[in-house]
Amino acid sequence: MFGYCRSQLATTNKRPTGGSLAEIDGLQFARAGLEISGQLSADQLPRLAELGCRTAGLEFRLTGTKNSRGKLALRVHFNGGGEMSCQRCLGPVELDLSGDEELELAGSLQEIETANDDVDRVLASSSMDVAELVEDEAILLLPMVPRHDRCAGAGFLSAGEDVATVEVKKVSPFSVLASLKKGGKR
Ligand SMILES: [Zn+2]
Repeated sequence: MFGYCRSQLATTNKRPTGGSLAEIDGLQFARAGLEISGQLSADQLPRLAELGCRTAGLEFRLTGTKNSRGKLALRVHFNGGGEMSCQRCLGPVELDLSGDEELELAGSLQEIETANDDVDRVLASSSMDVAELVEDEAILLLPMVPRHDRCAGAGFLSAGEDVATVEVKKVSPFSVLASLKKGGKR
């Protein structure tokens, strides 16, 4: 159900860098085990907005590390929320934009494109935009078609009932079924 793939992001042209937030030398940052953390405002997440996701911002922490394969890597931890419009009822679908991903630093785009394993990679460079790195990970969580499990029809929700929200990270067909069943018993 996830619409965006990492290799696509790796090869997509990003906006021209405004230099508004830190850039890091990826390999050096990882080798030295550095860490940078902070808060990204909505202004610093323009691609999320372009994809129709409204957010108040994201907290992040970027850490340089080595992965289990002994390769230099960046760990991207981020935390926040977003909202997209439901494609059925146009109501807001709340999204959990939180994650903790480890990205192996790749020497070339070719390495990323031809890798045949489940290691997440990002192209290493001497000027990696921190905001972009975090935004990429948030974009990967966006549903291609944002939709409520069950749209809130006007007046149908009782007070105690959850306004339908979608937990992007772990929607299983079973939970969808369960909520359908619950709805049927009313
Ligand atoms: Zn809806």
